[in-house]
Amino acid sequence: MRINTTAELVTLLDTGHYKQIAITTHHKPDGDAMGSTLGLWHILTQLGHKAQVITPTDYAEFLNWLPGNDTVINFEEKPEETAAFIEQADLVFCLDFNRLSRINKLGEIIKDRAQLGGAKLVMIDHHLDAEDFYDYCYYDTTASSTCELVFEWAKEYFGSSSISKDSVNCLYTGLMTDTGNFQHNNTKPHTHRIAAEMMELGAEHIQIHQRIYDVFTLNRTRLFGYCMYHKLEILEDCHTALIYLNRDELEQFDVVTGDTEGLVNFGLGLKGIVFSVLIIDRTERVKMSFRSKSKFAANEFAANYFSGGGHFNAAGGQSEDTLVEVVNKFKNELVKYKEQLKQIANEL
Ligand code: 5GP
Ligand code: MN
Repeated sequence: MRINTTAELVTLLDTGHYKQIAITTHHKPDGDAMGSTLGLWHILTQLGHKAQVITPTDYAEFLNWLPGNDTVINFEEKPEETAAFIEQADLVFCLDFNRLSRINKLGEIIKDRAQLGGAKLVMIDHHLDAEDFYDYCYYDTTASSTCELVFEWAKEYFGSSSISKDSVNCLYTGLMTDTGNFQHNNTKPHTHRIAAEMMELGAEHIQIHQRIYDVFTLNRTRLFGYCMYHKLEILEDCHTALIYLNRDELEQFDVVTGDTEGLVNFGLGLKGIVFSVLIIDRTERVKMSFRSKSKFAANEFAANYFSGGGHFNAAGGQSEDTLVEVVNKFKNELVKYKEQLKQIANEL
């Protein structure tokens, strides 16, 4: 049975109907994923609920300062503990993703629990093309971030006092990272109003910025330098920047989760570039990140050729082919967009 309205869900929460609540998010969680799950965890915990954040994988070290981080369980590290918690959970929040297949094995465990009637599933998300797997959703593809949605949801139904300083520090993090510091086209006047409200509730914007962006290791800095000097390729006719990295290079710079975050944005910083692509050989598969300017649909490109998707200007994809094959395929498919890319570049 669906939970039809937010009021119904809130009443069920308020009356203690849900004894154990899991909060999960997508594979390799980013700032919005960890900010929203931990932000919500603080809210629910303060309201007296037993809640637990579970991630499907590890995540970047620059997110470890988030208040509540010590309580998070990583499914890959502790599969049994995670499964045991979910098998007892009667409510599961799924934040910042909208298809259970995006969280692999953990998604199957959650699905099984829900199908047995043991847990209701709540989705809070802002990505396109949601799958209908939930009992209740708070879904808005025009929202800047899942953190924005969690903030609005909690404020409306539990009041601002439910959002502690720790919570708002988490939520501001996702608002900041998913908008690329309020510069992407998902930044609306409303986003700035939310940011202002968060600051009024105590969000420490300067510290948050520093803890996320000013914490490069020397290896990571040198990796970026290496990419800029040796690896950045400009496909001039297509107004496209390309960087690709093989396994040896990842090893050379001791690349760990989160180290390549933001690298794809550098390509987009070049004058006249409309499309920027980062291709990495992650061993089990080749992963791709796409970023575009203006009217070039990065998500369509990702979906058409690399089993991917995402937002209009920020998308990702993957392939089981070798790195060299993926790079060649990318270049071949890209040529089809030459005229479109040229026209967009002329209008920049
Ligand atoms: P990133 O390049 O930062 O990994 O991902 C950018 C955006 O694309 C994110 O919103 C993410 O959800 C989406 N994305 C990344 N990889 C994939 C993928 O393999 N499939 C789909 N559908 N979306 C992806
Ligand atoms: Mn997000």
